[in-house]
Amino acid sequence: MDQHQSVKDEIKRVADIVEVIGKAVHLKRAGQNFLGLCPFHAEKTPSFTVSPSKQIFHCFGCRKGGDVFTFWMEYHKVSFPEALRDLAERYHVSLPKTPWNPSENETWTERSSLLRVNEKACSFFHEKLLRSEEAKQARKYLVGRGITKEIVSCFKLGYAPEAWEGLGRVIKGADMEWACKAGLVIPRKNGGYYDRFRGRIMFPISDIRGRILGFGGRVLDDTTPKYLNTPESVLFHKGQVLYGFHASHEAVRQSGRVVIVEGYMDLLALRRHGFQEAVATLGTALTKEHVRLLRGYAKEAIVVFDSDNAGKAAASKAFALFLHEEFPAKAVLLPDNEDPDNYVNKRGLSAFQDLLTRAQPIFDFFLDLQVGQTGGSIEGRLAVLKQTIPLLCELKNAAQQSLYVKRVTEKLDLKESSVLEEMKKWVSSGPGREGTEASKTDEPSGKEVIYKDDSLFLNILVHHPSARPKMLNRDFRVLLSDGPVREIFDRMMEDCRKGVVVNPAELVDTLSGERCREVLREAMVSRSMCSEEEVEQALTDYGNKVLKIQLADSKKKACRQQDLQELNKISKTMQERWG
Ligand SMILES: [Zn+2]
Repeated sequence: MDQHQSVKDEIKRVADIVEVIGKAVHLKRAGQNFLGLCPFHAEKTPSFTVSPSKQIFHCFGCRKGGDVFTFWMEYHKVSFPEALRDLAERYHVSLPKTPWNPSENETWTERSSLLRVNEKACSFFHEKLLRSEEAKQARKYLVGRGITKEIVSCFKLGYAPEAWEGLGRVIKGADMEWACKAGLVIPRKNGGYYDRFRGRIMFPISDIRGRILGFGGRVLDDTTPKYLNTPESVLFHKGQVLYGFHASHEAVRQSGRVVIVEGYMDLLALRRHGFQEAVATLGTALTKEHVRLLRGYAKEAIVVFDSDNAGKAAASKAFALFLHEEFPAKAVLLPDNEDPDNYVNKRGLSAFQDLLTRAQPIFDFFLDLQVGQTGGSIEGRLAVLKQTIPLLCELKNAAQQSLYVKRVTEKLDLKESSVLEEMKKWVSSGPGREGTEASKTDEPSGKEVIYKDDSLFLNILVHHPSARPKMLNRDFRVLLSDGPVREIFDRMMEDCRKGVVVNPAELVDTLSGERCREVLREAMVSRSMCSEEEVEQALTDYGNKVLKIQLADSKKKACRQQDLQELNKISKTMQERWG
């Protein structure tokens, strides 16, 4: 057997899928399975199912699913070789030295090389900040901002010297090309490279496991841009990472609350004052990926916005996002000209904590903010209404929708009937109308429905292996109208003929299409629909149905051939059996 396959099997034996997924998604026991909110699509009612006995997960909403490796790859956005290595490390399984096949090898090499040069750059910047003469100003700056040595070392802060070839001298040979791909250096027109980050304090940006994906760099003077981030790469997507989350996720999980701030310095200031439940966006708007990531750890988010216009604009966008992802959130606006950094430094942690207790539910916050901005004029209120209607219409939860409608009528001083009227108009304006930004997401598209008979049949196949030999040589296949169910049936019968009792979980990997795998997973994580006696009854019923179909076919044939003798025989058989 392929050595990687045997490592995979070994990991599957020792790694419990509930434990692995449970670290990223709140799971609750529900009968023989565990349920949670899907980290891959927006939902309020859990349909993300993990089966400890089958060691698979399956989401009934978006139909993503698979084994512990599929989860790891999807969730951490890594390739299979990386998932294998990560889980092998975690469960102390040793990896073979044999190489991967070329395509797996390519992604693997690229990502691991990028991570390696990032690590190298991080040590270089960190050393510079700690010890070099040229970083004196940077050290002074950090001290001035209240950043302690502990914070510098915990977050591996660094300094990129004011030179065209600082990092460029340290990184050698083939790694230079990787450094270029990682966005650390930029190629010169006439050959060679120069440093992207110069004269900046460096903030390494890690994923949740602490691997460095990129950097943010801040100038010490008024040069623009004030902040410079690593450009997007296969490793670094700023819409998907949150600064500081690798250091805060444990605290967030414990308290069930996460506080979202905007900048690196905000987060570090809060940490310095002992506040651990914070994350920062990288100077960008929140994305649905951010929200889904946090939803696995926290039950509630509090977003802290700066009071400037950018902060207010961000607040409006974030509001739609939380509503759409159905993640309970509150929001708070800082007083004029303040950001969390100087607020907590000036007034202390307890003042910041007070501020958090005054956070408003994000819907109220949004309405107040909008109404405040328009000055409460009639035109202004109508403009707010226009902006709010699509969001209200998109709410899937009816109770929540009616509460929010009521809130809108109160805040905008309107009759409930006129709000409802506007909503009706918006809904009937149909497709082609402008939706909200947040609604343009990857909602699962219309599902194909499996015929009821087929799903019962599949359920028996999966949960009652002893029924399988009884299906051999009986033409049950004619009863199945669903392609995937037919494929699964054929595969199981094939094994059955060879005397093998196949485990459905093993079959999943070998099926031809994703739709087929979805169908099988769904049956595996569903309950058995029948008792043993009911299975017997169902098999008899199926047998009768098959016979009916066969007789009807023969009858047609006999009719065509005008074979009266045969026709009589068939009628007699039908009469005897079913009257
Ligand atoms: Zn899902």
